[in-house]
Amino acid sequence: MRAFVLTATGGIDKLRITDVPDAPVPQAGEVRVRVRAAALNHLDLFVVEGLPGGADRFPHIVGADAAGIVESVGSGGDITAVRPGDRVMVNPGISDYTCEYCHAGEQSLCVNYRLLGEHLPGSMAELVTVPAHNLASIPTLPRELTWAEAAAFSLVTLTAWRMLVTRARVKPGEWVLVWGIGGGVSLAALRIAKLQGARVIATSSDDAKLAAARQLGADVTFNHKTQKVSQEVRALTNKRGVDVVIDNVGAATWDESLRCLCRGGRLVICGATSGPQVGLDLRRLFWHHWSILGSTMGNAAEYAEIVRRLGKGELRPVVDRVYPLDQARDAYERLARGAQLGKVVVELP
Ligand SMILES: [Zn+2]
Repeated sequence: MRAFVLTATGGIDKLRITDVPDAPVPQAGEVRVRVRAAALNHLDLFVVEGLPGGADRFPHIVGADAAGIVESVGSGGDITAVRPGDRVMVNPGISDYTCEYCHAGEQSLCVNYRLLGEHLPGSMAELVTVPAHNLASIPTLPRELTWAEAAAFSLVTLTAWRMLVTRARVKPGEWVLVWGIGGGVSLAALRIAKLQGARVIATSSDDAKLAAARQLGADVTFNHKTQKVSQEVRALTNKRGVDVVIDNVGAATWDESLRCLCRGGRLVICGATSGPQVGLDLRRLFWHHWSILGSTMGNAAEYAEIVRRLGKGELRPVVDRVYPLDQARDAYERLARGAQLGKVVVELP
């Protein structure tokens, strides 16, 4: 099969299209999907650079998110949810369904949690084999979801849903600050926060993205290159601060995120694209009753819920640009430049 692979870690120039052996014939409990589109996430850039515990056998098929058509179903299992020919989306977080956390329904806390394209062969290939647990039928909508939209949905929407709904427990009327609105998690967070009745402040260094964010429902926007966000937040909220900060930037925004929080505020972290090491004055943490919450991906119940919401037309992802497979490297470069507003997607032939 054709696949987009990493030949070694160290940069986007190590990516190429090549022929590799077909994805494995599905075993009991597994399904093989003919991929029609695969969406990029910031994770994919980290994979290219090399991550601890990441890809170490090459060529390594990249890509986490995918959508496609069920090609075959493993025999001997009791898979009833999907059949060959079904249109499906892939939840790229693979759990073992046997550990203590999985038994408790917290599949994204699984002790053997792995991601397609990071720890496992990825989705940017003609075929991918995944557990049936990881598939959802693409909902039927009045305006049908494109393959690109279906591929763009899972990772960022699941991540943002757990951050806002499960971890931060955002409530109607609360203020939510979302950094860097061009990214997929941030756009999903904007949409979910609005669905929960919150008021959203979005930031970007690009005024065109801020205008788009307002179109998508942001109540207030700040340009974090030309404005001091914490000062603007204090002015906007009569010195109070925001209830929730959604941060996947890490080191570069850490101090400002804390300066923006109200008493009792919650800072939810799902990434550290600018660096992972930060400082914290514990006196400020306890005095202000802050909660600092980590979050990654989401569990099976959360995934089912976001798919149900997508079916109600609520969580349609924003697609930035779609590239054919033979231009997949350009897709990576667009993401690396941070030029996107929404998801960058690669379509398979
Ligand atoms: Zn587990």
